[in-house]
Amino acid sequence: MFAELSSHAAELRQRLVAFMDEHVYPNERALLTPPPEKDRWAPRPLAMALMEKARAAGLWNLFYNHGPEGAGLSNLEYAQLCEVFGRSLAAPEIFNCNAPDVGNMELLAAYGSPEQKDRWLRPLLSGDIRSCFAMTEPAVASSDATNIETEILRDDGDYVINGRKWWVTGAPSHRCKVAIVMGKSDKSGPKHKQQSMILVPMDTPGVTVVRPLTVYGFEHAPLGHAEVLFENVRVPATNMLLGEGRGFEIAQGRLGPGRIHHCMRFVGLAERALESMCRRAESRFAFGSRLAEMGGVRQVIGQSRCDIEQARLVTLKAAWMMDKVGNKAARNDIAVAKIAVPTLTGAVIDRAIQVHGGAGLSQDFFLAEAFAETRFLRIGDGPDEVHREALARVELERGK
Ligand SMILES: Cc1cc2nc3c(=O)[nH]c(=O)nc-3n(C[C@H](O)[C@H](O)[C@H](O)COP(=O)(O)OP(=O)(O)OC[C@H]3O[C@@H](n4cnc5c(N)ncnc54)[C@H](O)[C@@H]3O)c2cc1C
Repeated sequence: MFAELSSHAAELRQRLVAFMDEHVYPNERALLTPPPEKDRWAPRPLAMALMEKARAAGLWNLFYNHGPEGAGLSNLEYAQLCEVFGRSLAAPEIFNCNAPDVGNMELLAAYGSPEQKDRWLRPLLSGDIRSCFAMTEPAVASSDATNIETEILRDDGDYVINGRKWWVTGAPSHRCKVAIVMGKSDKSGPKHKQQSMILVPMDTPGVTVVRPLTVYGFEHAPLGHAEVLFENVRVPATNMLLGEGRGFEIAQGRLGPGRIHHCMRFVGLAERALESMCRRAESRFAFGSRLAEMGGVRQVIGQSRCDIEQARLVTLKAAWMMDKVGNKAARNDIAVAKIAVPTLTGAVIDRAIQVHGGAGLSQDFFLAEAFAETRFLRIGDGPDEVHREALARVELERGK
């Protein structure tokens, strides 16, 4: 059923592997760690140069299948390419396949007006700008999006936005030029029709990036995550996406593919962690034997292979279902992957850290940051519990 690549996808995969070896791994540390004396949110010449190379090599917008700007891959094919570049946290941006821009580009392609596409989707696809998605708020439990309090209120030919958001990925970057903001345009309407999504240029008066946020101390520069304040932010009514009250509809469409792309990348990250674990175990001696000869270490290596295979299979199944029946009908498979993969791959990375000893926690290896990444996804894009709850509803219905 799985893993059949067209000759086009297989050829892209081969070139992607070569590009990673030649350009990404050797520069990984420099790409992930901004020099302390420089503005950490400014564009980095090295990243920009590699993006240019990736684009020239046709390794660009691999996720995108809404037009000639993409690579024309199925979800199942993209999953297998995503696994290749998912091995490095520095890679997604180089190939213009990073969150949240991918989700925002998908959203604009599906729901944007021709003018909105021309102004925002076009420069995003060409990598000239970055974007962010502002839904979560510090004041309310945002895993339940009906709680969102930000106001998007009509005032003649404009909308006026007021609210405080946080965990807005990408907002600190100087390259971030537009936010997709979710908020309430009708507080008294039916629960799932109260919310809207609107495009807000980041340089609009009243938009303030208050502070960057860290994940276990990692800044994730140069994109990062931020708290963002919207105070009497005025944008033209034509910036509304799809129509007033249609925010929930758009949110459902946006999050499905975004979630699965994280899973695809994590499979690659866990494979790399297992390779690193084995190399380390082969090369270190303690108490008279190689770590690789110790029963406990061999057990975690074996278990890690089992976990990666499970993670890969649920991810590929979800991607395959998206191709066969569409994102909406594949939502249960997407939920299974979203719940299972960060835990399975996070466990592999955690074991790799343990086998590396102190080195595993240090900046000398990719493992500590990789662990933080898998841990965050058990909360980001909705906490695991919310997805389990949705699955439970379906299962209980099935039993009736
Ligand atoms: C690194 C990172 C990047 C992010 N990027 C973005 C972004 O770009 N844009 C954006 O808008 N948001 C982003 N988020 C925010 C993320 O989507 C929210 O943190 C998430 O949806 C949870 O909302 P909350 O933090 O308000 O937690 P709360 O809603 O307060 O939930 C807290 C906890 O309550 C429990 N819980 C909730 N519901 C249930 C339930 N039904 N059953 C059982 N337990 C439950 C869970 O354990 C949950 O973790 C990001 C978060 C992180 C960490």
